[in-house]
Amino acid sequence: MVKIFTVKTGYSEELIDITGKVSAAVAESGVKEGIACIFTPHTTAAVTINENADPDVKSDIILGLGSINIEAVDYAHMEGNSPAHIKSSLVGCSETVIIDKGRLMLGTWQGIYLCEFDGPRTREVFVKII
Ligand code: ZN
Repeated sequence: MVKIFTVKTGYSEELIDITGKVSAAVAESGVKEGIACIFTPHTTAAVTINENADPDVKSDIILGLGSINIEAVDYAHMEGNSPAHIKSSLVGCSETVIIDKGRLMLGTWQGIYLCEFDGPRTREVFVKII
């Protein structure tokens, strides 16, 4: 089964916690032991797993990626959003999480995030559960 949900982002760049939506997809699937692949089909967004305790980590990730100074390059891509494409490739468009006893086997301080790099937009997330 593939569960698809949408996420409306509100800023040009942000991380949005989608752990609850992925957990709901796992519960809905009825799979107790397996794998969940979380994938976003966009070239200027990404999926990552990182700290869910201190919200400053989310904004620090955006700040850190911005500090790489990829904005200063004279890009050819006519849409003008090459930094967002590069950030998408750096972070990656998917994550895989083990399902154990019907639950995502994440660390205590880990959450799953959709990363927006060229918003605000409506983004899709696919969750394939095996
Ligand atoms: Zn583009």
